[in-house]
Amino acid sequence: MRDAQELAAALGRIDGRGYKAYQQLEGGWRLDGFVLHIDHVQGDPFARPTRVRAVLEGQTAGFADSAYRTRQRALGTAAFLARTFAEAARSQCRRSGSGRSGEILMEHPGQVVLPQTAVRVTADGDVEARFTIGLPANGRRIAGRQAIQLLLEDVPRLVHATLLEAAVGAPDVERHAATNEDATALRSALAEHHLVAFIADGARLPRRSGVDDRPLDPEGTVSFQSPDSMRVEIDVPNAGTVGGMGIPDGVTLIVGGGFHGKSTLLRAVEAGVYNHPPGDGRELVVARGDTVKIRAEDGRAVTGVDISPFIDGLPLDRDTHAFSTDNASGSTSQAAAIVEALEAGAGILLVDEDTSATNFMIRDRRMQELVEKKGEPITPFVDRVRTLHDRHGVSCVLVIGGSGDYLDVADRVVRMTDYLPVDVTAEAAAVAERLPTGRVIEGTPTFSRPAPRTVDASSIDPSKGRRTTHVRVPDERTLVFGTETIDLVAVEQLANRGQARAIGRALAWITHGMSGEDRSVPAILDAVEDALEEHGLDAFDAHRWGDLTWFRRFELAAALNRLRALRVE
Ligand code: ADP
Ligand code: MG
Repeated sequence: MRDAQELAAALGRIDGRGYKAYQQLEGGWRLDGFVLHIDHVQGDPFARPTRVRAVLEGQTAGFADSAYRTRQRALGTAAFLARTFAEAARSQCRRSGSGRSGEILMEHPGQVVLPQTAVRVTADGDVEARFTIGLPANGRRIAGRQAIQLLLEDVPRLVHATLLEAAVGAPDVERHAATNEDATALRSALAEHHLVAFIADGARLPRRSGVDDRPLDPEGTVSFQSPDSMRVEIDVPNAGTVGGMGIPDGVTLIVGGGFHGKSTLLRAVEAGVYNHPPGDGRELVVARGDTVKIRAEDGRAVTGVDISPFIDGLPLDRDTHAFSTDNASGSTSQAAAIVEALEAGAGILLVDEDTSATNFMIRDRRMQELVEKKGEPITPFVDRVRTLHDRHGVSCVLVIGGSGDYLDVADRVVRMTDYLPVDVTAEAAAVAERLPTGRVIEGTPTFSRPAPRTVDASSIDPSKGRRTTHVRVPDERTLVFGTETIDLVAVEQLANRGQARAIGRALAWITHGMSGEDRSVPAILDAVEDALEEHGLDAFDAHRWGDLTWFRRFELAAALNRLRALRVE
């Protein structure tokens, strides 16, 4: 393999030449303590930057066995290294020359710890970091001296400062590895405790803002404290016994006055399907992996979804057993979201009144008098949520501040007061008995689970013009797929941009790479999950992208379901 000297010589030779000459650098270079693989050289100084990898052998990286002994430990370590590298790259960034000259960029994992492609720590303790660099140019001519500085000084300095145990410090590595292992253990223990979620005492739930997922300043934060009646203790491998509030299987209401922290609690549960890094405040807040947030999203497309358990007999006799629209209403979008989640295998639904359609959630006594059921296609969720649990085994956690009609259907009622939970289940039952709603229960007493749809795979078309695959993620909530732009704003459990990118690649793979015959939605989701499990995030194409994040089947299904070109049989 060529070495540092040869790299310097090569850069000397191409100095001042046209930018294309940089392509000679593609391949591996043995530098100081690591191998730099230049996988793909950018076309010009303004194009997407050059993709590279730094690979360190376990011995050089120097991590203790505890940093990667288990898969979860290795993931915690890897996310920590990615965070450290990404932040150091950002702050040492020295751009000079045209376009992206001199830039070094790594995908930052944000407030989640998930398998990602920016940094991987293998079972042998080897480290692979993927990032991009802007190969320097003046105008469109190669700036050889700056390139030598970038490749032989800046990049090695960054690698040595952020990917070696000696540099980042063994105690911090252990903290990240142990925290991640504990969170996964906690989540795995939920089912045997018959819990859908767990929020540890002392957890800090609020975030800085609606668009900033980092924790709110600790001084302004009320730490979580479980009511005694809901307190559960769970053993985890590193932190020992952890106490906190267990949300049991069944139908749980979170009630309370406005601004008392109801939605914040639900959002923490929602995010509890993923692990969080030390310092996040939600390190020990977990939800079962099959938990799906449901919300209304008027304007979205819906394709062939059987929403008849919730909505039947629309005006003009529109069929709701295979309901399609380019422009869903609040209630039809929320009904579709539930049926789609069940189709993908959701076991727990989360619903917040703030993001629900009122007429989907409730029809009170007076409305029942005024508008007879014959003229109302919607069977409100309050008349469905029990059947969902009792017959279909699907639990539900609902934030409800406005409608007491839900007290009749709840197993458990938690009231948030000044950001702290109080168990008011008994009180709620007494109120429900003292003040009957007088409602008539609507709809058939039970309903069956809608059958899964079968997708016409040719309708999932990633091509655009001459490109067979055109996938872009211009911002966190937008997936450009072929000629279509999929709006993911309402997919609240999408953790970061890396997930959207990986989902885009997986969708393309469904069309171009997936084998087997069965194209039912669950079969497709299974196939993607299997590929992901077996080959990791490189399963869907061979480009060694460094900016992909692992995703759940539910967010993949959410993107698929929002594809306007989708056709089902
Ligand atoms: P609700 O849904 O009950 O109306 P929210 O959950 O939206 O209330 O919270 C209202 C505000 O209080 C938000 O700005 C949120 O960040 C803040 N908040 C929530 N929980 C806490 C807490 N434990 N400590 C401090 N502030 C909090
Ligand atoms: Mg709220």
